[in-house]
Amino acid sequence: MTSIIPIPAFADNYMWLVRNGTRAAVVDPGDARPVLDYLAREGLTLAAILATHHHNDHVGGIDALLARYPAPVFGPARESIPSRTHALAQGDIATVPGMPVSLRVLDIPGHTAGHIAYFGTIDGAPSVFCGDTLFAAGCGRLFEGTPAQMWASLSALSALPDNTRVYCGHEYTLANLRFALAVEPDNAAARERQAQAQALRERGEPTLPSTIAQEHATNPFLRAHRADVRAAAARHAGRPVASDVESFAALRAWKNAF
Ligand SMILES: [Zn+2]
Repeated sequence: MTSIIPIPAFADNYMWLVRNGTRAAVVDPGDARPVLDYLAREGLTLAAILATHHHNDHVGGIDALLARYPAPVFGPARESIPSRTHALAQGDIATVPGMPVSLRVLDIPGHTAGHIAYFGTIDGAPSVFCGDTLFAAGCGRLFEGTPAQMWASLSALSALPDNTRVYCGHEYTLANLRFALAVEPDNAAARERQAQAQALRERGEPTLPSTIAQEHATNPFLRAHRADVRAAAARHAGRPVASDVESFAALRAWKNAF
């Protein structure tokens, strides 16, 4: 059996650890210490490191992990990733040695210029590791990309199967849902999700993974093409929005100042 465990880091990051038997892979290890502690406690060997993008809170722990465990480092071809051994782009496959884990790479630029996601079936469930591009009920800031790039990237993630589990890089869900409900006050699914997320956080539990179906129903950034969401974006911007990308850009600007 393969399972996926969140390892919290810093204020609100998740590093995702995939384990099977005595082996494990880790996605976006910004901090080595909690990963090393978990591996030692559970008697696991690190079989691979996967990075989605170059930000230090996602890759800062790589070299300290390699000092203890020699492992391949998968990362985006178009970004600088410490000790990367496998430079990946759209359509490439990342196979974790000794584990039944093979993930297909999607190019999803916008948050950073070379950001990638890893998609595959893990223990029977379609799963995507999407870093800081798609969040539960939100999306990443546009540090290096354009709204058109981010909209295309979110659309690609949105086209994954409805039951795909979404493993993203931060616990931002409650703040994102507050914004989602500002955009769509009458969205009952978002309202219900807020209550569920609130209950999870009060128990100290992650709100992740979500599913692509949940994101379709509640994430304003995946809903920017809908007439009602476009109207809300235009109302807030104080000008008409002429396209899905403009609607997305207006929502992203609104959220930046929210
Ligand atoms: Zn980032």
